[in-house]
Amino acid sequence: MSGAEASPAQTVMERCDMLAACTEEPGGITRPFASEAMRRAHELVGGWMRDAGMEVRRDQVGNLRGRYEGSGGATLLLGSHLDSVRNAGRYDGPLGVMVAIAALERLHRAGRRLPFGIEVLAFADEEGMRFGSTYLGSRAVAGTLEPHALERRDADGITVADAVRSFGGDPIRIAEDRWSGPKPLGYVEVHIEQGPVLEALGLAVGVVSAIAGQDRFSISFEGVAGHAGTVPMDRRRDALVVAAMFVVAVEQEARAREGLVATVGKLEVRPGAANVIPGRVDLSLDVRHADDSIRLEACGRMLSDAHGLADNRSVAVEVRPLSENAAVPCAPRLVSLLTRAVADCGQAAVQLPSGAGHDGVAMASVTDVGMLFVRCKGGVSHHPAESAAVEDVAVAIDVLGRFLELLGQQ
Ligand SMILES: [Zn+2]
Repeated sequence: MSGAEASPAQTVMERCDMLAACTEEPGGITRPFASEAMRRAHELVGGWMRDAGMEVRRDQVGNLRGRYEGSGGATLLLGSHLDSVRNAGRYDGPLGVMVAIAALERLHRAGRRLPFGIEVLAFADEEGMRFGSTYLGSRAVAGTLEPHALERRDADGITVADAVRSFGGDPIRIAEDRWSGPKPLGYVEVHIEQGPVLEALGLAVGVVSAIAGQDRFSISFEGVAGHAGTVPMDRRRDALVVAAMFVVAVEQEARAREGLVATVGKLEVRPGAANVIPGRVDLSLDVRHADDSIRLEACGRMLSDAHGLADNRSVAVEVRPLSENAAVPCAPRLVSLLTRAVADCGQAAVQLPSGAGHDGVAMASVTDVGMLFVRCKGGVSHHPAESAAVEDVAVAIDVLGRFLELLGQQ
């Protein structure tokens, strides 16, 4: 080694590159829950945690947890996730863990202790790629992981419980992962924005105001299939025509409300032949907003559109709610402290909601949640082109460091 020592932000970037090499699929980044790739990631991250003065352990479900002791008994939780989607980018998740370690490394090198301990949580399963689950890691810490979640199977038929066992954990003892100390001072996560807002504003970082609530529905329109050549237009009950009108109605409802997003991302036409009138369409609907009342009202309007459009054309409609997650407002105390930290670092401080879900959703049942977003290029995530700038990462480390100072003064 020669030349000047790498800056903390450069180190974070290099570490994200090294983690990108921990993958199940060469040539891309695919790091599922409890995989060999995750085991290699843990070896690296565990080493970096120890270098930053932390005691490191892996809990039963497979989160890696590093603790930096303070002079007092309280604990602040920092973290993000180490798992990825298939063919992922290198920053969604790992960046937050690396920035947290970098902030602590600074304290450690200066030989400093804060009046509270800090636990860095590198969560095992935020994306749910392997088991179609969400938040296996953070829900174990929150104590909200239902036992039946352990019975889920991956594409090879392996259960979550088996995966936990082969990763060195004991599924019977997952309840021990639950946060059991006094209520933490908060859970704070740094994450790439995954959207274009900060880039458009020309800002390196932003403070998250809330994690949007989300509804998912499966909707079926049932008409009558028929011969594309012989059934006259005025006799048809075409399920796809109704579905198409519904997709447009959803877009209109969403565009009419600031901050509302709604997506029909999946649509299946049956029987699906060029010469057959579509008899049935099954589609998905995903609706999100940071304010639950706006989301619920919008869902009501969209579902009533579905019924109205279907009735007009004598098509049957069936709506099945799949999931509902309430919005998680970030704690005003943490939002204002993060906002102050951003300003103290000479940056314009904006607040923005998160349209994507995060481990904070699960951690909200344990403690107050705060998040700091880092600008990413083009708002791209869940894709190899995901990109963050070293200058922005440097700002994020400074802001998190300043936040720790401010919290220590309280
Ligand atoms: Zn993420």
